[in-house]
Amino acid sequence: MSTKERKFVYSFREGNAGMKDLLGGKGANLAQMASNGVPVPPGFTITTSACLEYLEKKDDFIQDLWPEIEKTLHALEEETGKTFGKGENPLLVSVRSGAPVSMPGMMDTILNLGINEETARVLQEATSNERFVLDNWRRFIQMFGNVVKKIPGEEFEKVLEEIKSKRNLSYDYELNEEDLRSIIQQFKGIYSEQTGEDFPEDPLKQLKMAITAVFASWDNPRARTYRKMNRIPSDIGTAVNVVSMVYGNMGDSSGTGVCFSRNPATGEKKLYGEFLINAQGEDVVSGARTPEPIDDLKDLMPQVYKELDETVKTLEFYFKDMQDIEFTVEEGKLFILQTRTGKRSANAAINIAVDFVSEGILDKKEAVSRVDPDQVERVLHDQFDPDADYEVAAKGLPASPGAATGQIVFDPDEAVTLHEEGASLILARPETTPDDVHGLYASAGVLTSRGGMTSHAAVVARGVGKPCISGCDQVSIDLEAETLKIGDTTLQKGDILSIDGTSGEVVIGEVPLVEPDLSENFRTFLSWCDSISTMEVWGNADTPEDVARAKEFGAKGIGLCRTEHMFMADDRLPVMQEMIIADDESERKDHLERLRSMQKEDFRKIFEAMDPFPVIIRLLDPPLHEFLPDEKELQEYLSDLENTGYKNSKEGLKVKRALEMTRKLSEANPMLGFRGCRLGIIYPEIYEMQTRAIFDAASEAKTNSRVIPQIMIPLVMLRKEYEKISERIASIGEEYGLKEHENYMTGTMIEIPRAAFIADELAEKADFFSFGTNDLTQTTLGLSRDDSETGFLLKYIEQGLFSVNPFHTLDRKGTGYIMEVAIERAKKFRRDLSFGICGEHGGDPESIAYCNSLKLHYVSCSPFRVPVARLAAAHSALGIIK
Ligand code: ADP
Ligand code: MG
Ligand code: MG
Repeated sequence: MSTKERKFVYSFREGNAGMKDLLGGKGANLAQMASNGVPVPPGFTITTSACLEYLEKKDDFIQDLWPEIEKTLHALEEETGKTFGKGENPLLVSVRSGAPVSMPGMMDTILNLGINEETARVLQEATSNERFVLDNWRRFIQMFGNVVKKIPGEEFEKVLEEIKSKRNLSYDYELNEEDLRSIIQQFKGIYSEQTGEDFPEDPLKQLKMAITAVFASWDNPRARTYRKMNRIPSDIGTAVNVVSMVYGNMGDSSGTGVCFSRNPATGEKKLYGEFLINAQGEDVVSGARTPEPIDDLKDLMPQVYKELDETVKTLEFYFKDMQDIEFTVEEGKLFILQTRTGKRSANAAINIAVDFVSEGILDKKEAVSRVDPDQVERVLHDQFDPDADYEVAAKGLPASPGAATGQIVFDPDEAVTLHEEGASLILARPETTPDDVHGLYASAGVLTSRGGMTSHAAVVARGVGKPCISGCDQVSIDLEAETLKIGDTTLQKGDILSIDGTSGEVVIGEVPLVEPDLSENFRTFLSWCDSISTMEVWGNADTPEDVARAKEFGAKGIGLCRTEHMFMADDRLPVMQEMIIADDESERKDHLERLRSMQKEDFRKIFEAMDPFPVIIRLLDPPLHEFLPDEKELQEYLSDLENTGYKNSKEGLKVKRALEMTRKLSEANPMLGFRGCRLGIIYPEIYEMQTRAIFDAASEAKTNSRVIPQIMIPLVMLRKEYEKISERIASIGEEYGLKEHENYMTGTMIEIPRAAFIADELAEKADFFSFGTNDLTQTTLGLSRDDSETGFLLKYIEQGLFSVNPFHTLDRKGTGYIMEVAIERAKKFRRDLSFGICGEHGGDPESIAYCNSLKLHYVSCSPFRVPVARLAAAHSALGIIK
């Protein structure tokens, strides 16, 4: 198709928000705002397809494209009543890149394009504001030289600094006409020196060069790296927006600012942002001057504030999401220059979702679909312990919520290294740039001495849910010396600092942190998730405290209560050890008797904590040697006893027996060894004791609903194993007058492929199945998790052999297939059998979606993952995660 038949240029009046692929995010939203009657300066967008075509055909294409641009430019002249780069009322424009996805690394914006000797003169006459015109001019040369010709920004900054220091000025806006005239001459000099050409006077040439530079920037190395890292395809291209200028630098009734429609840290429904009077473009975010909070605009320009507030509300209602807006006020008149979905903290995301439903902007399903499972996890942020005693050393802007404590680090690369060594870090810098983000990811929190709530550090930290304090001018950071000064105190790299990004407080030394409370909104939001989900979320918890937390976080049952953790406690381990090394069955039974009363108490408290929800208790699972002391230590102790003549003392004989037992129980492959129900077969008295403890606890527990304990037999591979153990449980049940399947239930974990293959045989007896996907992954893939995860598995993931860690995200073709086989076989025998999953995969969103597709009854995960899993289960039901 020839270029003549294709449309490459769209006036704002022709586009809409649905055209992001063609017009880029910025252009599509500008067009949408224009057609919604929002005050947007008129302009047009050159499409992403034009960019792609340029990359192929280069200047030949620009030739072909140019008539269409000129035509649209004339229409823009008519619409604005100005003429581009000439005449009595000259039109100046900005040239702005804008890809379909937000993408740092693309070309920066050029403002005031079209200015030259002639237009500058006319504008001075027309505005009688010489300073304003000169200021535009010097900005233009600076941006054009930097962006189009890659002249380093410092070249221009040097000139500015020189004049400011000579005249003893602190800020650019204090420069007078004479200063600016001299600056412009020097800037032009720099331009010719660096490029070997004169600065282009012809506005159309300026425009052509700028547009071409934007197209070309799609392929610059920074943009390419960013795309690769974020898996953005390289064949989408960027659009170019040409927008008539509006001026925030015309004096005290002008200004420019950025704002969010709601507070991005808390979600509070109130304009949130910053502005500067008599400023242009990026002055607000560049940190050149400290901007004013948007609230102050209410007093300074009440009419503008009111209009801004109303406009923002309309935009929010239209886009059905919280908006991040750029605006400029030109002599009291408001213009919106950009709107997009605002980034927000996890807390804000929840609060906004809930508020949007009560304001009628979204329905519950839409609200639930807007929040990311990752964000829910972040809501569970740490805070300073309110009971802790600490002295606030400095206060900055509370830019991203949550608290952190750690070693001070200044260098982002070093942060990464220290983080890998396991250190908790506070990254301290005057301000951050995109080049520092790896350091920010590696740190527990960030502190910057400059920048506002919308600074780079603040935005990135909120995005990843790390605490951040910005604009903390009470600290001074010296990157060369690697020191951080607060008042008279100088801290070095490695010293401990604590920050609270919710309050903005900086504390020298460590402050204990506490886990957060769940807000009312959080509970409401998660209850909507539950009403959408078709699967329940249960928790894995071993102690009464953890069980209570799982329930608090919304678990509808305990899918896995591991009894061995109780034996590891200080007061129990010695009893457990004596039981294991017991000479004969009767001695073993004595020790088991002592353990029984302890277990019974644990179980009783757990049943009480989880009332009225079910609890699945797994009988002892790990290899016994895990409870015994280290062989070498025992050997040394025994030698000591021998040397001091205590060899045949009671203690001496006991140690000898312990050593024998440790040797006997040690295995080359404990994961595949004497563990799980194999223990229960060889030492039936252990499982008998546990069964009695469970039945006693169930009858003693003070609960409102009757406890129906669920006993889970681990690591079954043979039907006979299951039968032998379940029959033993049943006969104890009879002693208690309890009916199997009615007063208690027995089931098994499916964690060995063979168990899946005989699932029909097991289903004949069992009341429930639970997929123990940690072991099932190990046994299906033939991978020892402990050995591989710190070793070759990492290389497998790096080299792309595994796309993700199969211990985190279910391997559908392997582990998943075995699950499918088990379900299919079992259901042939009993359609109503209940299946759940209790491996760590139960807390992973993608794995949860898979479980949802298998129609499991529940997923069970660690208490802190329960809220994440509740949202992931809802997203699975809505088909958002597949
Ligand atoms: P970015 O993508 O980096 O945000 P923008 O293209 O949005 O870059 O522009 C950078 C700055 O210049 C913003 O503050 C924006 O509001 C301002 N700006 C862009 N175009 C105009 C214009 N036509 N008039 C006034 N200010 C503008
Ligand atoms: Mg920019
Ligand atoms: Mg912008």
